Amino acid sequence: MRGAALLAGAAALALLAACHEGTGPGACFESNATPYAFDLNGDTTLVFHWPGSYMPVRVYAEPKGNLAANVQAAMDLWTGAFRCGELRLVSTSDSTRADIIVRNPPSLPTAPRAARVLRADSVGACQGVTQFTLDSAETTLTGPMRSYVAPFPFVADSAAIEACYHFVTAHELGHALGLLAHSPDSNDLMYQQPRRRVLTEADRYTIQLLYHTTSKLGPPARP
Ligand SMILES: [Zn+2]
Repeated sequence: MRGAALLAGAAALALLAACHEGTGPGACFESNATPYAFDLNGDTTLVFHWPGSYMPVRVYAEPKGNLAANVQAAMDLWTGAFRCGELRLVSTSDSTRADIIVRNPPSLPTAPRAARVLRADSVGACQGVTQFTLDSAETTLTGPMRSYVAPFPFVADSAAIEACYHFVTAHELGHALGLLAHSPDSNDLMYQQPRRRVLTEADRYTIQLLYHTTSKLGPPARP
């Protein structure tokens, strides 16, 4: 009896040590964070993340202004959220072979009919939106994730617009990676009106959990 208890204690200690060393079952997750939702409109059948077979996920940024630099910073931010390398991203200059396409039009485009739209996030100086389409069975994406950042109408302060792009671009990439909902906490990057290009523990934990959850939606076919 005493021996069994000692063994159990030793096993627990070994597990703790393993976690601490980054090899145990909890090692891939933030330890004291509270996640927010990642399904679209609270529909648990609308859960998506890029599969392991698509790594590295290909990201295209329209060569315009600072967009490519902002997209690269956002890619580094989100891949850095993982402790176990679940997500890898690579830039591509070929939009026809991209999984995620980010553009910087003069104004947000009208979504195609039937597109699923993460509603525009407006932060005073700029706004962003991410959209995708599903097949008729609503089980598979039919094309790339498309994110857009654009100036807020009637804002002439280009410095404010540029500052806004820093975090709105990162927020939209979070949607394109599968965070299909918003955080209720204004500190989080995935709050609907983000304020900074920083991931909180909750942002990191939520995307860690997403990439350890079975994706209900299939990825778009690659050309
Ligand atoms: Zn959003």
